[in-house]
Amino acid sequence: MRILLVEDEKKVAAFIKKGLMEEFYTVDVAVEGEDGLFMATNAEYDLIILDVMLPDMNGIDICREIRKQNIKTPVMMLTAVDATESKVEGLDSGADDYVTKPFSFDEFLARVRSLLRRPSSSESSLKVKDLTLDPVKHEVYRAGKKVDLTWKEFALLEYMIRNKGRVLSRTRIFENIWGYDVETSSNIVDVYVSYLRDKVDKHVSPKLIHTVRGVGYILRED
Ligand code: CA
Repeated sequence: MRILLVEDEKKVAAFIKKGLMEEFYTVDVAVEGEDGLFMATNAEYDLIILDVMLPDMNGIDICREIRKQNIKTPVMMLTAVDATESKVEGLDSGADDYVTKPFSFDEFLARVRSLLRRPSSSESSLKVKDLTLDPVKHEVYRAGKKVDLTWKEFALLEYMIRNKGRVLSRTRIFENIWGYDVETSSNIVDVYVSYLRDKVDKHVSPKLIHTVRGVGYILRED
């Protein structure tokens, strides 16, 4: 499950991202409203979380624009404690729920889960050739055989499948799967891609994971 978080306060964004990643969600963060709107309208997400107060563009306007473009992804607003008006406005703009800052992470997660259970975001398996990934059951099959993956390997494979046909730089992969984890070096991407290849591509053809020299990796069908 992939979540877009638009939040300008970097500490808050890092905190939410970390918490969501611990629950095995893949999280993209935009710190500027305009970037957030671009990502929301150009990539596929299962949930969009919008901070209302952003320096360049307000979360409510972003939500309106998303709905105007007929994107039905569930939207959660993050509002300030005393902003009653923005809650009403947020829901009017097409948001599905809102959470008031500061919030307990448990409550926040419960809301996230409930939004992701909505029928509009229910999703069948992702398929590339004979590789199947079920994001709900967390199961992967290649050539009819079940593949056991660790959570990080699963998140990496899900990310690559959702971006199939796109060249993904190491940095981009690293930020999406590991977040702002300063303890880890981005070489870990190469390590995990090699684990994945062993489990998903070895002794099977066609190979799906390819190296793009000097840049990163791509998952593609041919
Ligand atoms: Ca803010």
